[in-house]
Amino acid sequence: MGDNRDMSRRWLFADQLGPHFLDDRRQPVLLIESKAVFRRRVHHRQKAHLLLSALRHRAAELGDQAVFLRAETYGQALKKVREPLEVCHPTSRRALDFVRGLDRVTVLPARGYVTSLADFAEWADQRRGALRMEAFYRFAREHHGVLLDSGDPAGDRWSLDVENREPPPKGGKLDVPAAPMPKEDDIDAEVRADLDRWEREGIRFAGRDGPRRFPATTKEAKARLRHFLRHRLAAFGPYEDAMLSTDPWLAHSMLSSSFNLGLLDPIEAVRGAERAYRREGAPLASVEGFVRQILGWRDYIWHTYWYFEAGWRTSNELSARRSLPAWWNDLDADAVDAHCLSDVLAGVRDRAWVHHIPRLMVLGNYALQRGWRPAELVEWFHTRFVDGYEWVMTGNVVGMSQYADLGRMTTKPYVGGGAYINRMSDYCGGCRYDPKKRLGEDACPFTAGYWAFLSLNRDRIPGNARMARTMKQMDRLADLDAVVAQEKRRGDDPP
Ligand SMILES: Cc1cc2nc3c(=O)[nH]c(=O)nc-3n(C[C@H](O)[C@H](O)[C@H](O)COP(=O)(O)OP(=O)(O)OC[C@H]3O[C@@H](n4cnc5c(N)ncnc54)[C@H](O)[C@@H]3O)c2cc1C
Ligand code: SF4
Repeated sequence: MGDNRDMSRRWLFADQLGPHFLDDRRQPVLLIESKAVFRRRVHHRQKAHLLLSALRHRAAELGDQAVFLRAETYGQALKKVREPLEVCHPTSRRALDFVRGLDRVTVLPARGYVTSLADFAEWADQRRGALRMEAFYRFAREHHGVLLDSGDPAGDRWSLDVENREPPPKGGKLDVPAAPMPKEDDIDAEVRADLDRWEREGIRFAGRDGPRRFPATTKEAKARLRHFLRHRLAAFGPYEDAMLSTDPWLAHSMLSSSFNLGLLDPIEAVRGAERAYRREGAPLASVEGFVRQILGWRDYIWHTYWYFEAGWRTSNELSARRSLPAWWNDLDADAVDAHCLSDVLAGVRDRAWVHHIPRLMVLGNYALQRGWRPAELVEWFHTRFVDGYEWVMTGNVVGMSQYADLGRMTTKPYVGGGAYINRMSDYCGGCRYDPKKRLGEDACPFTAGYWAFLSLNRDRIPGNARMARTMKQMDRLADLDAVVAQEKRRGDDPP
């Protein structure tokens, strides 16, 4: 262990809170809580709570080792610190420019992701044409030696995704133990009181307040990871894509906010999952599926944010120009009849979290069909979700969900009708719409919206074999013009 008198003070941003952001347990630390962050954007109340709670818990853990400053802006706080500082590469371009512009501050390589920025850039520079997550994931498995048997992928395939597409379990509940929920403490009570006061002062929040459901300390995050690996991982794989109105969590890990706050080192989750496979017989399809999410998807989204040009973030190649309606911005689930959308929007309102498929195939899909501006949607996902950060938005929202870059992340848009939602959820049975109908009073807004979207964007979406088949199918629809007119009338009203 080094002597902390020789160590520079490490400035930890509020998403760099775990021990892996320090070189030594005793290293001097600077933490800054900026109120301006909450004035600038309308955050979900539970997200604001988690961010503040995690930062203040870290300050309490570090005690005298940390200088903890509460200020309006980072700039104001920094005026109070005289000594040289070092900081790990921040997670947004804006923050990176800011720290690079400070002459007392040394910027260190990024932490909190499995593959380094330099290794990703070297891999990507050698590729010709479009980058694909699957190829990066294979590189990362080999590079970090994850789930390999003598150099080959465990189970002989790099991805076992086809085994992970079960519809929801019958009976409305998955038979797995619930994830451990954190216990709120005095710090949470203080955060809640501060947020109430800030609201009275005029700072606006979205969504409903509720118990803190996501870890605010490394200890809580590790406990959730351990429990997940032991009790929930096996069911994660098969039901990864399923949606249940009665069980929003299913077997998801609920760890994204812990990784993104920097509480949990992602390599620990990857190695832990591999151990569960090798030592405890966890099913390979589940283990590989979970590893792919973290070593593959999460890292890929992070790296493409930095590797692609800054302008990628504002792509809008489908010329989507409509503003998000107020009911969407306000998370007004009660205004919506469509059972799937109403339930998912209520999940965002009440928990600031829904899992991947509701984000992609309900929320993102609906916004794409309606032609809402990707930039507004980026802001919405960023601020309404407990795990939202700028770096995670570009790939997931602009690239994957809104196809606003015409396919740098995917070969075709993630747009779908009611048939997909019907297959993968229990929503349609209790809905006033019929997933099979595209025209009429009970036409499913997703099914009708799907055809209307394809019709309006047929010249913008690049042709490929998969799209060509769908377009041919569309050309055979005798009622297409009527469907387009119907969806135009529905417009941005809550469906
Ligand atoms: C439109 C849209 C918006 C999204 N916004 C966010 C976001 O703001 N923050 C965020 O962390 N994830 C985001 N995701 C990815 C994914 O939906 C969430 O990471 C996941 O639902 C979080 O729940 P979980 O921790 O239970 O994840 P699990 O299903 O248990 O997956 C395990 C982990 O894999 C990682 N992961 C999986 N897919 C992705 C991905 N595409 N991008 C980044 N990490 C991934 C997460 O860290 C997650 O904790 C978004 C996806 C879409 C389609
Ligand atoms: S019928 Fe359509 S709107 Fe209703 S739940 Fe199914 S997919 Fe959603």
